[in-house]
Amino acid sequence: MPIPQAGCPSHKIGSSFLWNSLKPCNFSDFSQLAIAMLSVIYSDEFLEHKTGYSHPEKPERLTAIVNSLKSAPFANQIQWQSPTPIIQRPVQPFIEAVHDKRYIHKVKHIAETGGGYLDADTPVSPRSYDVALLAVSAWLDGVDIVRETGKPAFVLARPPGHHAESNTGMGFCLFSNAAIAAFYALQQPGINRVAILDWDVHHGNGTQAIIETNPQIAYCSLHQSPCYPGTGKATETGMHNNVLNLPVTPSSDGSIYQSLFTQQVVPFLCNFTPDLLIISAGYDANATDPLASINLHPQDYGLFTDYCLEITPKILFGLEGGYELNALADSVKATLNSCLAIENNV
Ligand SMILES: [Zn+2]
Repeated sequence: MPIPQAGCPSHKIGSSFLWNSLKPCNFSDFSQLAIAMLSVIYSDEFLEHKTGYSHPEKPERLTAIVNSLKSAPFANQIQWQSPTPIIQRPVQPFIEAVHDKRYIHKVKHIAETGGGYLDADTPVSPRSYDVALLAVSAWLDGVDIVRETGKPAFVLARPPGHHAESNTGMGFCLFSNAAIAAFYALQQPGINRVAILDWDVHHGNGTQAIIETNPQIAYCSLHQSPCYPGTGKATETGMHNNVLNLPVTPSSDGSIYQSLFTQQVVPFLCNFTPDLLIISAGYDANATDPLASINLHPQDYGLFTDYCLEITPKILFGLEGGYELNALADSVKATLNSCLAIENNV
């Protein structure tokens, strides 16, 4: 897929983030990469987070994606991996790095006592706490895989996380998976800077609130405005100019997003020189999605992925939103297809 040259205006000499840090981002560098397989981290246990009849964040979201990937032309290039069991690697310490202990205990208590709600949109079922821990484990596994292989990986888990703040869950989200993964990554050798790109149609208020004081983490969000949760103004730039919010008006389409990627997203991320790029990969900006009014199409996410691969191959994708099942599955497929296209030389 030919893409416009986005260009990276600034590279810090000596940075370790690019596979060749002394060269500008260049689409032709794809030929230097070799991705035979792409890891997708998934467990059927993620279906056990029950949200109730007619809730858009439902287990069938994952089932639709899994079925679509298993019948994709590149199905034999997907390496399905189970997340590390919690008993093998407790994740509570990593969750406590970003969430208030009282909030964590609250979620656990609601689950153990039969379930309930964190807010009107955010149910907790009897197994939700355990499933949310396993989801965090999957995101941490994703960090490990990307760090060890230098290649992209995709975490196919739920519940999502980018609305969860330090002391509260909201907007279908229990724990802030992307922020937890970023803090975990910074504890690993060779990772000193982590960027999070959030292309979910909603602003990741939780992620931003948690990371905006940390100069080692950058956050960039493209989101519809006005829209839930109402945060994410362009004037919110973080304590270290480490936040870039790009609100887009309803009815915006792929051409608007393309301009934002080339003119703002890619330069911002390149300038930050991340050792790891985490993508809060929500797919609810699709035209058919019932929760927003942006007019993207699944192939647009393939293009966004191409832009990100221009910056670094060290990308962890993690599922956030996306509620129209066909578009959701096709969008994840487009994302993975772009990752694998490097190997396939498409
Ligand atoms: Zn969303």
